[in-house]
Amino acid sequence: MKTRAALVWEQPGNWQVQEVDLDDPGPTEVLVEMVATGLCHSDDHFVTGDIHVGGLPLVGGHEGSGIVRKVGSEVHDIAEGDHIITSFIPACGKCRWCASGKQNLCDAGAIILQGDQPAGGFRMHADGRDVGTASALGTFAEWQVYDQTSVVKIDPTIPLDVACLVACGVQTGFGSATNAAEVRSGDVVLVIGIGGVGINAVQGAALSGAAHVIAVDLIEQKLDWARQFGATEGFTDIDEAVEFAKSVTNGQGADSAILTAGLVHNDLIGKAYWGIRKAGTVVITGVSPDAEDAPIPGFNAFNMAMFQKRIQGALYGMASPREAMPMLLREYQAGRLKLDELITHRYSLDEINQAYADMKAGKNIRGVVEFQKVAPVEQAAERELASVG
Ligand SMILES: [Zn+2]
Ligand SMILES: [Zn+2]
Repeated sequence: MKTRAALVWEQPGNWQVQEVDLDDPGPTEVLVEMVATGLCHSDDHFVTGDIHVGGLPLVGGHEGSGIVRKVGSEVHDIAEGDHIITSFIPACGKCRWCASGKQNLCDAGAIILQGDQPAGGFRMHADGRDVGTASALGTFAEWQVYDQTSVVKIDPTIPLDVACLVACGVQTGFGSATNAAEVRSGDVVLVIGIGGVGINAVQGAALSGAAHVIAVDLIEQKLDWARQFGATEGFTDIDEAVEFAKSVTNGQGADSAILTAGLVHNDLIGKAYWGIRKAGTVVITGVSPDAEDAPIPGFNAFNMAMFQKRIQGALYGMASPREAMPMLLREYQAGRLKLDELITHRYSLDEINQAYADMKAGKNIRGVVEFQKVAPVEQAAERELASVG
């Protein structure tokens, strides 16, 4: 079939929205009509070249939602009409990690920067070339084929435009606080970098009962947003934030510092490290340039041992998507987790470059592409048609 998708052809480059060919799903795959996709900062790294991939062109996107329209012959627990959200780590269900309840570390995740399908080969083609998929997904497409291990069935009463956010930003941020930092009642927590992930680390820390959720971002507007999601204080200067954390902990420092900046450089890790107390935790969630090997300023292994500190990397909120996503959607249905409020702007697929420009300008918590949303020009034409009709 023909569909439309946003591809990157060179690094650094831009998103190019164009017509593509999409094959039928293979035996283990499903064809999905997409409803919405969140615009995660991580996909911007494919455009800038901070993250290298197996080959180009590549269709971006990993935070999607949609409706299953066709299933392969070996797909038994997903049916036509099911509502799904995507998982940017496929979960095979059989490897050591899946078997031990850590599906976010599934061995099948090894392929997510290669571009081909978990079952091998490519389903999307453009201008005579195979199109790789970001995270074995590629949700920046009106229709897409996914492996059954890459989708999670959800309650069909939940609106798909907000459900897509749980597919990456919400699970990643929320779990960074609840699982990686293990925030407890009364804790003092630094959340450094307030974007689509950081804002959910704020939510996770606040819902866990933290006494102080201290948001840090260079942009004041983001600190205001953070307060609406449970932050108790906001600082544009990380040194001032650390000083505040020490002032409310008898000089000891925060219980945890969660690094959710769009690009985590080692100097930021150093600041977080010296901002936590004995036996405190620094969580590294945000993506760093994959070639950075600079030392962490001030890092000292003696101090780390004597102060029993922990630097904890966190992937996908250290949670299994099939467990965490339904839990988070239940929290949404119960009115505790805010999802609707996360969407600060809705775009059509054609507006994707503008959407990323807005994200980088700090105008969005989360921008979402709605595939049914038509570009403003077409909307005007439709209104004219409607008025004629
Ligand atoms: Zn993401
Ligand atoms: Zn597995």
